[in-house]
Amino acid sequence: MTKMSKQEHILIIGAGLCGSLLALRMAQRGYKVTLIERRPDLREVHQDAGRSINLALSDRGLKGIKLVGLEDRVRELCIPMNGRMLHDKESNTLFSPYSGRTDEFINSISRTDLNIMLLNAADEYDTLQVLFNQSCSDVDLKNATATFVDYHTKEEQTIAADIILGTDGAGSAVRKSMYMSRDFLFSFSQDYLGHGYKELTFPPAEDGGYRTEKNALHIWPRGRDMIIALPNLDGSFTVTLFIDYEDAPDSFASLNSPEAITEYFTRQFPDAVPMMPDLVKDYEENPVGPLGTIKCHPWNAFGKVCIMGDAAHAIVPFYGQGMNASFEDVVVFDETLDKFGDQGWEKVFKEFEKTRKPDTDAIADLAVDNFHEMKEHTAHPMFQEKRKLETAFEKEFPEEYYSKYSLVTFKEEIGYREAMIRGRAQNKAILNLLDDGVLPGTLSRKQQLEAVLKATNDILHDD
Ligand code: FAD
Repeated sequence: MTKMSKQEHILIIGAGLCGSLLALRMAQRGYKVTLIERRPDLREVHQDAGRSINLALSDRGLKGIKLVGLEDRVRELCIPMNGRMLHDKESNTLFSPYSGRTDEFINSISRTDLNIMLLNAADEYDTLQVLFNQSCSDVDLKNATATFVDYHTKEEQTIAADIILGTDGAGSAVRKSMYMSRDFLFSFSQDYLGHGYKELTFPPAEDGGYRTEKNALHIWPRGRDMIIALPNLDGSFTVTLFIDYEDAPDSFASLNSPEAITEYFTRQFPDAVPMMPDLVKDYEENPVGPLGTIKCHPWNAFGKVCIMGDAAHAIVPFYGQGMNASFEDVVVFDETLDKFGDQGWEKVFKEFEKTRKPDTDAIADLAVDNFHEMKEHTAHPMFQEKRKLETAFEKEFPEEYYSKYSLVTFKEEIGYREAMIRGRAQNKAILNLLDDGVLPGTLSRKQQLEAVLKATNDILHDD
């Protein structure tokens, strides 16, 4: 069995969010690290187009940031979002806090600023080299070598390492090499939603301020479609439209003229239209992105190559957890190294996947659930009643009650899978009790909570 020594060379492919954090942590642990990226250095070339511009960073992601000692720097880039601001078709708004505990909120953060901050921190380590404009075309899994094509010269180079970690996102070239291998059985699934997404903007107001409430994640749920908006530090909001590609009354296929675009937005999102002076231009210029779930197994090959982040488990964005899960991967990988590092890389990779995959499978499923919840259920009176009760429980009994959203988003000491099982049972219990008229009823808040906890436990035991 090969033991690991700190002089070993780790090649990390993909300097996005996961790869940059992972490289930093591996350098901190004393390894020699090469981090290599297909795109140009985003500190020199602006390249937002086509990718989500801002993201919701929450406790699981912050755990990874804390691990590398960058919490203070990241906090400066964050805008707290305390809850969902729901906008109905009559332009009424309803604020629904994410939690009854006042210290629980999520943060809007710019993808570019966060990635730049991680790359700048990486530059502080002499043992960590970052290379840009190098696209991985192939990985020799048994020998831990990878081939790259230079974006400018088109020349090929092959880099050898002791191990390769693939963090090259949903379209991973490293994963593709595993998929193509005939030496082992590689399972892979990719499920696209019929919806795609397009990013739009609320620019800052004339006075430089925000055009709508800054500290909220705004949602315009419309059953089949929705838009959401997250604030940026410069006073703008990044708006994302989620809509069918085709075969629906309104779709990317049918919104094919300035008139159709304006008519659709005015009909569906009347209060958002005045905040989008460049709506038609933005709509016509910005690309449509796909939304899909990728699951695969195994995540490692020959104890030489391992994938993580979106490369191993891309998910749809409706729980705001893809980046958070990828950062949590780094934390779990680091813990696995502590526990099994003396038994060689193969053992580390296998234990990492064994611990992590049930949780990443769970968040993938939860994210699809939340797609339906956000666009359909958030506008439903029963859902709003449930949220009100849960917020009250969390406020009055902060130690005893965590909603499904809070379990997934804030209770980072339990895994996604445990959060999913408990959260789903709780939802079922509350909705049944509301439906039967037991809740809210004439019960005291304490009795309401006891009824929910009992019904939840009954469901968990029955399952
Ligand atoms: P990426 O960020 O995709 O990074 C992969 C890197 O590898 C890139 O830099 C890429 O250029 C590079 N690369 C790719 N191929 C190669 C190659 N062949 N050779 C070399 N380099 C290569 N997550 C959240 O937590 N919160 C949110 O609010 C949220 N919102 C989202 C909204 C949308 C619309 C979408 C699409 C996603 C959202 N996500 C969110 C998910 C999040 O963006 C991803 O989970 C996260 O970026 C994964 O990080 P990663 O480093 O694994 O992959």
